[in-house]
Amino acid sequence: MKAVRLHEGAQVRVEEVPDPVAGPGEVRVAVRAAGICGTDLHAAHGRLPVPKLPVVMGHEGAGVIDAVGEGVAGFAMGDRVLLLPSETCGDCDACRAGHLGLCPQARILGMARDGTFAERIAVPATCVLPLPEGIPFEHGAILADAVATAYHAVATRAGIGGGERVAVIGCGGVGYHAILLARLLGAKSVVAVDASPGALRRAAEAEADGSVDARADDARKAIRRAAGGAGPDVVIEFAGRKASVELAIASVARGGRVVVGGVGMEAPQLPPLVAFVGREIAVLGSMGYTRAELERVVELAATGRLDLSGSITARHPLEAAPQALDDLAHRRGDPVRLALVLEAP
Ligand SMILES: [Zn+2]
Ligand SMILES: [Zn+2]
Repeated sequence: MKAVRLHEGAQVRVEEVPDPVAGPGEVRVAVRAAGICGTDLHAAHGRLPVPKLPVVMGHEGAGVIDAVGEGVAGFAMGDRVLLLPSETCGDCDACRAGHLGLCPQARILGMARDGTFAERIAVPATCVLPLPEGIPFEHGAILADAVATAYHAVATRAGIGGGERVAVIGCGGVGYHAILLARLLGAKSVVAVDASPGALRRAAEAEADGSVDARADDARKAIRRAAGGAGPDVVIEFAGRKASVELAIASVARGGRVVVGGVGMEAPQLPPLVAFVGREIAVLGSMGYTRAELERVVELAATGRLDLSGSITARHPLEAAPQALDDLAHRRGDPVRLALVLEAP
């Protein structure tokens, strides 16, 4: 089969590899769409350690089951499914609680095991979820990463309720969906904050009420003004930068919540305690999501309540993955999510 593999020395190659086999407890999926995430880019550029090389890239995907291994119940040939981005142990406290993002043994597809940028992928049956007929494969591919991650941050960690004023800092793939979901959950207003004019344009398409250039000297004031003076009740950060987390803490309203979902190596600073405690600010990390939350976003997409029609901003065939990665690196076309789309075999 054809696959996009990452080799030693940050080399991405489209090549022929043997078809994977569905072992005991596994299913094999004929991939129909795969999403390209910023993490793939970090891996391809050598900015993230990749434990298995060469490796088939990609951790977002959806397709059709084309082989079922021994002992698998509940799935059959021809079933439409979406893939979870990592294989989890199933046995730790996090897994037992259904919190897929917190399993310490998680092996992410495309990094620790072969991923979705291929014609076929074999994974444990616990790593797939049924994909309802009404959801296109390209939306199925991003539900278990860009959408569910945003849902966990917005619905669960921030607990956004009706009538709250929200700001989202970092409006790329995950942040874009955080805006859609904040609206869906009844936020009174959503301010988009990003350094890229293209990302702010996409955020406006997702019906953000206001936008703020994150690089502006008075970004803090601008966020407060856009949120109505006292500042947003909730600020959600998806940029993973020291400056943007500090901006989130500085601009949130008294008694507000800051949810940080952006991951990186930088170390933000808290304000002096007289301000941090005095304004009673909560700062919460947000990682991954639970199986129940993923099922919820699948349901929201299936019923049409969550409109993902603006989520896929470019489509490429599998062979064009290196070009698509380069487009994402240079943010050509103001991407929300780029998808690799494969014909039915
Ligand atoms: Zn991802
Ligand atoms: Zn686990």
